[in-house]
Amino acid sequence: MPGFERWSDAERKSVNEVLETGILMRYGFDGPRQGIWKAKELEAAICERFGSQYAQLVSSGTAALTTAMSALGIGYGDEVIMPCFTFVASFEGVLSVGAVPVMVDVDESLTLNPTAVRNAITPKTKAIMPVHMCGSMADMDALQAICKEHNLLLLEDACQAIGGSYKGKQLGTIGDAGTFSFDFVKTITCAEGGVVMTNRKDVLIASDAYSDHGHDHVGVDRGADLHPFIGYNFRISELHAAVGLAQIKRLDEFLSTQKSNHAALKNILASVPEISFRTIPDPEGDSCSFISWYLPTAEITRAVIAEMKAQNVLAGNFYWFDNNWHYIRKWDHLKNALTLNALSPELKAQVIHHANKDFAASDAILSRCVSTAISLSWTSEQITEKGNRMVEIIKGVLKG
Ligand SMILES: *Cc1c(COP(=O)(O)O)cnc(C)c1O
Repeated sequence: MPGFERWSDAERKSVNEVLETGILMRYGFDGPRQGIWKAKELEAAICERFGSQYAQLVSSGTAALTTAMSALGIGYGDEVIMPCFTFVASFEGVLSVGAVPVMVDVDESLTLNPTAVRNAITPKTKAIMPVHMCGSMADMDALQAICKEHNLLLLEDACQAIGGSYKGKQLGTIGDAGTFSFDFVKTITCAEGGVVMTNRKDVLIASDAYSDHGHDHVGVDRGADLHPFIGYNFRISELHAAVGLAQIKRLDEFLSTQKSNHAALKNILASVPEISFRTIPDPEGDSCSFISWYLPTAEITRAVIAEMKAQNVLAGNFYWFDNNWHYIRKWDHLKNALTLNALSPELKAQVIHHANKDFAASDAILSRCVSTAISLSWTSEQITEKGNRMVEIIKGVLKG
């Protein structure tokens, strides 16, 4: 998964070019920056590599979600349908704009179940936010059809799926807007950073201003910029963008290692007939940052996890069902709407309502699921050893 495993002279050189000029900010200082525009260059590289018409860099993937939702006009009174299996940032984004996160079940793709989405639509639904979890995609044809039918916005949280695609289109570029995270453990990193991608000019213009206090960025004098609406500061720095610019040039190298390591490990796991794998709507488009696999029952899965822990091979294996950050079962703070600032009573009640619904269908999937993160630094001997030890443990547990 992570680009940080391949830290190199390319990243160091790119950061040093910024340090030479001392212009660490992405806007203004046209003379002193001596032609170094890392954030602008990275935005152009993102558009080029992913086939997005526009890109707005921001300070994190979470900031990208907030920015995209604001730019799409999502706010008070609106419901956003999203999966109950995702990183907490997805609902943080929804709450940050005052909208209601409506969590629904996932299916064996580990992404939104289109039938569950349909069942959750109300007159207040404004957007559907699929999350392309663990490197692979949601069923975008089904979700696009629902959006079209009900006139809903489609916002892709593609933070974990950099380099994945669906029927030839890059994940994050299919909906009204899409986001990537470039935090430290994502496929390419800026240390911290994120981007809003969109093919809608109005969404780009709004994102551009929103993420910089509302600056319209029309002239060359920042002080004379107008503020057509209230914004925030979600700017990325030139230092962070410099890291990302070096990393994006290496993305295809990262992805190809990821794919071959993924194939080698999957091949070993597939020798166990009781193991099944996550469904993937377009297998060609899997970014291969994880292998997600299922065992026949929750009990067996728990026993395998315990044994992997005991034998010290758990590293890189995620049992999301017990994880505090990625699955609704452990989101007590959301279930109780524990915020530092007071929410409107209406919003608070809705947050609590939606977080406490029945997710038995997802429990039945997540309790049998393990995701193995694919490292870029594995040697082929290490993959064989890791795979064989995992298989040995799984077979041992299955035998009872
Ligand atoms: C990482 C991640 C985010 C948030 O990104 P940050 O850059 O860490 O704020 C959002 N959604 C998902 C699914 C993520 O994995």
